[in-house]
Amino acid sequence: MMHFISFMIALSLAGFHTSADYLAGDLDKPATETATTDKGSGAKTGSKDYQNDPLYPYIAQQNKLIEKDGVQYITNPENILVLANKEYSLQSSYSPPDLVRPNVTFSFGDEQVEKAKMRKEAGSQLEAMFAAAKQDNLTLYAVSGYRSYQRQQEVFGAEVAAKGEAKAKEAVAVPGTSEHQTGLAMDISSRDQGFNLTEAFGETPEGQWLQKNAHNYGFILRYMKGKEAVTQYQYESWHYRYVGKDAATIIYENDWTLEEFFQHVQALQKKIDGGTAK
Ligand SMILES: [Zn+2]
Repeated sequence: MMHFISFMIALSLAGFHTSADYLAGDLDKPATETATTDKGSGAKTGSKDYQNDPLYPYIAQQNKLIEKDGVQYITNPENILVLANKEYSLQSSYSPPDLVRPNVTFSFGDEQVEKAKMRKEAGSQLEAMFAAAKQDNLTLYAVSGYRSYQRQQEVFGAEVAAKGEAKAKEAVAVPGTSEHQTGLAMDISSRDQGFNLTEAFGETPEGQWLQKNAHNYGFILRYMKGKEAVTQYQYESWHYRYVGKDAATIIYENDWTLEEFFQHVQALQKKIDGGTAK
């Protein structure tokens, strides 16, 4: 027990208490137990203890939604933690306010195209990540970033024309549900994979490097193997999503998807609210 406690204190001092708490896997444990291992937290009582929870800052970064015609639309899409998926759609009018073309190697070279773009903060972290991989003698290639609602419509429309709506929905994201519309996602490949988006990319040195290091630059592997039921997407070894370094590290260390991260954030909020809300 003493050993465990000193381990927890050591983790806490090193600033790594976030994952250890949640790897314990017990969401019902009162937050006070985890909070008391925080350095210098002192004596705290009541709901203030929740403020020491590593997930506390993210309560304010959950989706805000409005329902129209049976579709849940996100009304705060500029949120860096925005959760866009088959359940929560971006509105057709949304395009990110600060798209830039990051200075990285692209699979399509110097071509000036929409898909080269990302939001400013994500783009600068993508540059740092690609540069760090280069230091390890690995060249990453950016393949596809921002995808406008209009572009999603073109792709989806072509698929519907070719295969019918039901088949199209299986193969292509319904416009507004692609995370690429957030400007926070980038598909990445390598020369070895012919710059294609392949599951095998995950087994290459480049893919392995990303899996180990992306969180240090604020990126997460968004559609993980074994989490298909949660994400409602097949494993995509190439699709990385920017969420910021702190959130990415929590997600990485707990082996969560973004959906699971927000399930835990919501659980914390319910505890704070008294656990009565549905
Ligand atoms: Zn993608």
